[in-house]
Amino acid sequence: MNLRENLFNSVQQRGEAEAYTYLGKTCSYTELGQQVARLAGKLRELGVKEDCSVALILPNSAEFLITYYAVVSLGARVIPINPLYTRDEIGYILMDSQSIGVVTLPQIAAALLEYRAYLPHLSWIIACGEKVEGAISWAEALEAVPLTSWQELHEDDVAVILYTSGTTGKPKGAMLTHKNLCSNAESLRHYVRATADDRFVVVLPMFHVFCMTVCMNMAVLVGSPMYILPKFSPAEVVNVIRDWQATVFAGVPTMYNFIMQIPNARPEDFRSLRLAISGGASLPVELLRNFEAKFRTIILEGYGLSEASPVVSFNPIDGARKPGSIGLTIPGVEVKIVDDNDRELPAGEVGELVVKGPNVMAGYFNNPAATAEALRNGWLHTGDLARRDEEGYLYIVDRKKDMVIVGGYNVYPREVEEVLYQIPQVLEAAVIGVPDPDYGEAVVAFVATKAGQTLTEEEVLEHCRQHLAKYKVPAKIIITPELPKNSTGKILRRVLKEQLGA
Ligand code: AMP
Repeated sequence: MNLRENLFNSVQQRGEAEAYTYLGKTCSYTELGQQVARLAGKLRELGVKEDCSVALILPNSAEFLITYYAVVSLGARVIPINPLYTRDEIGYILMDSQSIGVVTLPQIAAALLEYRAYLPHLSWIIACGEKVEGAISWAEALEAVPLTSWQELHEDDVAVILYTSGTTGKPKGAMLTHKNLCSNAESLRHYVRATADDRFVVVLPMFHVFCMTVCMNMAVLVGSPMYILPKFSPAEVVNVIRDWQATVFAGVPTMYNFIMQIPNARPEDFRSLRLAISGGASLPVELLRNFEAKFRTIILEGYGLSEASPVVSFNPIDGARKPGSIGLTIPGVEVKIVDDNDRELPAGEVGELVVKGPNVMAGYFNNPAATAEALRNGWLHTGDLARRDEEGYLYIVDRKKDMVIVGGYNVYPREVEEVLYQIPQVLEAAVIGVPDPDYGEAVVAFVATKAGQTLTEEEVLEHCRQHLAKYKVPAKIIITPELPKNSTGKILRRVLKEQLGA
């Protein structure tokens, strides 16, 4: 079980069939196989071998796909990094991962060249785009003699080190093996019945594990075409789904929210779509219902995290899905809901979700203390609070650390946010806890309204009073033009807390 075998099986079986379309250019699986073999030839010349780390700092592109498969095919490790990170953030990950090379955009290549003295492990940079003095160009890299003899790969070899989104603290490198990534793509493929006839829109960031497994690795596994979009524009996504006849679209809730706002999108635009997948953050039930009613298409919500490669659970595709639920565990993955002493809780009770399975990471790179903390007693502790119903459907209640305690009562921000989303003018909502001299903590709600709509704090409060127990009603409402989010649509509560000096 390894990623190289998945790619070259599809190259063999799908041959001239479309592998990807990017910036108007379409390449077949045969061409993709050649591009990967050429780049691998160059990387080997540059000294890349098993256990080396190569950082990939690119937006969605053909170059990302090719580099990813070339690096993992050599038994080396891809370190995907968000190209929007600051110089310091990138520097930290390059240092921590001991990356020997970087494939990136010209402007980042130029900045890294200036700071080379501080990056002792770094020996080469490939710049995609215009020529950068001191860096290898993408065209040069692809001129190499294609690699034909590959070293043996083992399923427990680390393929990717993912620096987790780090909405708090310093990012840690989750080590995902070939087995972790392949088993997850394979299990999900069975669950959603993906085949070579599917057509994937790739618009989630490829450097994030959600896109890596659910779009890229799954499409390559079944030999499907991918339409790679460098950035998210709601109108463009709808055009691609309609004109390219996409069957699979995976997005974060924010993307569904923005697609909802396009005035002239119609149900017919989504006719080819077989699977609309949401994950990465909770999908407000109100948004799910409105989207489905407007476009007559079903959104299936799943749940995962970097440390689980990522998919843990998913709603079934046969109609037995439950809005607000993250579905059932996918085949091969086990979960339990436990209390603070790791004792399993019965159905209906809220506790921490813990996960076991072939998809669970090998550990954090060079960080045994964090690994021991996360992988206690053989179970990955997710830090997410969840409950299970009698039929095994899982519901995420909230992040454990986001829970607010008001005068001894637990308030789950998600519950308050769901109520806020019921207000028709609300585009986005986030709830946090701030210190309070009387109650320990107080609930504060941030609300962004839809374009051209207005709302007063009193109107929001009145709605909350009608739908929530008194202690859950926000002590303060802040109407704001937009909410700070990371690349996968997760609201950055840390930033909101900072705004309030909490
Ligand atoms: P990351 O490792 O960046 O993928 O973040 C994983 C985290 O995203 C999880 O631990 C959850 O807190 C959150 N998450 C992912 N999917 C969902 C979902 N469907 N509902 C609620 N939270 C989610």
